[in-house]
Amino acid sequence: MAEQVRAAVRTGPGKTELRELPMPDIPDDGALMRVEVAGICGTDVKMYAKPPFAAPVIMGHENIGVIERMGPKFAQRQGLEEGDLVFVEHYVGCFQCEWCHIGEYRHCEYTDWRTNPDARRYGYTSAENEGNLWGGFAEYLYLPWNAVIHRVPEGVSAELAGLVTPLSNGIEWALFEAGVGYDSTVLIQGPGQQGLSQAVACKQAGASMVIMTGTTSDRARLELATTLGADVTIDVQQEDALERIMTATRGKGVDVVLDCTAGAGTAPVLLGIDALKRREGTLLIQGELASFPDFPVKKLTEKAITICSARGHSYRACELALKQLASKRFPLELLTSHTFGLEDVDYAIRAVGGENELDVIHVSLLPWKDA
Ligand SMILES: [Zn+2]
Ligand SMILES: [Zn+2]
Repeated sequence: MAEQVRAAVRTGPGKTELRELPMPDIPDDGALMRVEVAGICGTDVKMYAKPPFAAPVIMGHENIGVIERMGPKFAQRQGLEEGDLVFVEHYVGCFQCEWCHIGEYRHCEYTDWRTNPDARRYGYTSAENEGNLWGGFAEYLYLPWNAVIHRVPEGVSAELAGLVTPLSNGIEWALFEAGVGYDSTVLIQGPGQQGLSQAVACKQAGASMVIMTGTTSDRARLELATTLGADVTIDVQQEDALERIMTATRGKGVDVVLDCTAGAGTAPVLLGIDALKRREGTLLIQGELASFPDFPVKKLTEKAITICSARGHSYRACELALKQLASKRFPLELLTSHTFGLEDVDYAIRAVGGENELDVIHVSLLPWKDA
């Protein structure tokens, strides 16, 4: 096996260097994964433009690959074999706290880089930590004893499995957080990979109406939303969105609103509050805005709206997402629009951020593409 590992390392804001790192030693309770696919999402765009700290970071937090080498303890604990295709969650659990014991690794302090300076999280934390290969934009990924791993079911390719993260977020946010289920009416704002994944989760769970909004430049994505089962699509720049939502729901408004927009300011939340039904609707929001001037708290409480937060995925949501992909019920492969090699990490992240002409939906980084 190669002594050196090629990795795209973030060295500063909007700066990537292709580096060769030494192959890490694999302890008895650790393993090495050959990275097949690392998905790129909107979070990468933000973390790349404004890194939260200066240490060198191998980005890439949506990682699929093949177990290349394992220590005997790791093999025994994880129940894996060399050659298995796996999805590795970016959360790395302590396996001692209450969150870890219920499969909610996303809430574990050990992996929370915002509050814990020594946290471990794939794609987020320093490449200077032991094992070095802490991100998917590299040929290999280091797996410590406490990596959270899911086996990819048979019949699901590595590239299709790359959709596990947006789809598991779809299941977590729409179904577990916002309670979408049988006969729900749902407004999904933003037809990117995240919004489209929410649409699939909602349809699978029995939603009777999924309304998807986008902008004029989202035309192809809105068509894809229809292919994936959305009942109504709206171009918010050309149409009166609220009027169309009210017509579609016969004046009632929707049960649930899911905000999957990026860089749209306060508009999606304001539309969401108006589009919700008269009482007890649910609004799922993101944390993009640090503050929200003139937030209509009166209207919110008068309508008895519940707000939930878009915040990652649980172990169960990942397992359900993998099952969904294996079922082939929805043509989710239509989401995987672009692939890039390791040399093109900078270009690929910028493409996801809409900086170049590519009309991307889901972008896969394939570290071995040009090798
Ligand atoms: Zn992501
Ligand atoms: Zn924990």
